[in-house]
Amino acid sequence: MSKPKVMISPGAGMDNPGLFERELSDIADVFFGTFKSGEEIPPEVKGAEAMILSLELVNERLLTNVPRLKIIARYGVGYDNVDVEACTRRGIYVTHTPGILSHAVAELTIGLMLCLSRRLIHADRYARTEWALPKENRGARFPMGIDLYGKTLGIIGLGRIGYEVAVRARAFGMKIIYYDVERKVDAEKTLGAQYVDLKTLLENSDFISIHVPLTPQTRRLIGEKELRLMRPTAYLINTSRGPVVDEEALCRALKEGWIAGAGLDVFVKEPLPLDSPLVKMENVVLAPHIGTYTIETRRAMAMMCIENVRAALMGKIPPNLVPEQREIFGVK
Ligand code: NAD
Repeated sequence: MSKPKVMISPGAGMDNPGLFERELSDIADVFFGTFKSGEEIPPEVKGAEAMILSLELVNERLLTNVPRLKIIARYGVGYDNVDVEACTRRGIYVTHTPGILSHAVAELTIGLMLCLSRRLIHADRYARTEWALPKENRGARFPMGIDLYGKTLGIIGLGRIGYEVAVRARAFGMKIIYYDVERKVDAEKTLGAQYVDLKTLLENSDFISIHVPLTPQTRRLIGEKELRLMRPTAYLINTSRGPVVDEEALCRALKEGWIAGAGLDVFVKEPLPLDSPLVKMENVVLAPHIGTYTIETRRAMAMMCIENVRAALMGKIPPNLVPEQREIFGVK
């Protein structure tokens, strides 16, 4: 009898060479493949019983064309690219990798804040090009930074990642305020964080960091109105999903000085087009969606996907079902 076929998308496979084959070959045939919306689904993809996916769009069209599919294992925690309802209707499990990646995203978030507060990108460029030049050949003096110490960080979405950001920001001596659809009383106690409404958060923060999932409710949560409420000295950090922020409004805010700057790991369109106005802006620090991109975290994510796929192929309920499926499949 032939083994079930497991498709690994390049985003997951390239990070962990050989790992999926080693860990799954006793029960499955692993192959590397992908599909694109609007394009013919390759024949080998149609035979998959499990998929370990990066950000490919999983919709009705895909599910209809892959009839033996048992599980979509998202290589990441956000699953806005997966039509969970359509999967549930077909009895297909959807899993993700919550928790194990939170510290990596939190570290990047703090990194972006430090890049902005201490102008590290400019500093690096200055040290390589101008610093040692005779005074008369140097440009203006290197601009001074600001302290994180004593500043207020407003966290939008105090979930797993938001919490880890808050822990690290506290260590820097920052005051934490947060907005979330759910009040987090335990976190308020451990972090000394204060719950506020979104308007209060926008008006009172020196740094704002977004950590909500992309849902119909959070799409463009931060638009022109919200950006105009921010302080002109404040910085916006987004490591959640690009469409949570109205990118056009953000560009205007950055250009016209409604806010001081932004640190962005995620964008409405990825890869970020080279002709995006963000590319030329000096008050912006950009990262190419690398929130979880560390050796340790990508491996832990892969191992979690493997555990979920093994369970599904062996007729068990995978341990990391997305919240919408937990009750349906009888998991607490
Ligand atoms: P989580 O579910 O633990 O936390 C999300 C928080 O947002 C929760 O506290 C929730 O109550 C809150 N929330 C949901 N809808 C809201 C709304 N409408 N308004 C206000 N608050 C709302 O998720 P997490 O593990 O912390 O991950 C958060 C997101 O980060 C993911 O969904 C993903 O999109 C993004 N992410 C990005 C990267 C990256 O590489 N940049 C990596 C991992 C995760």
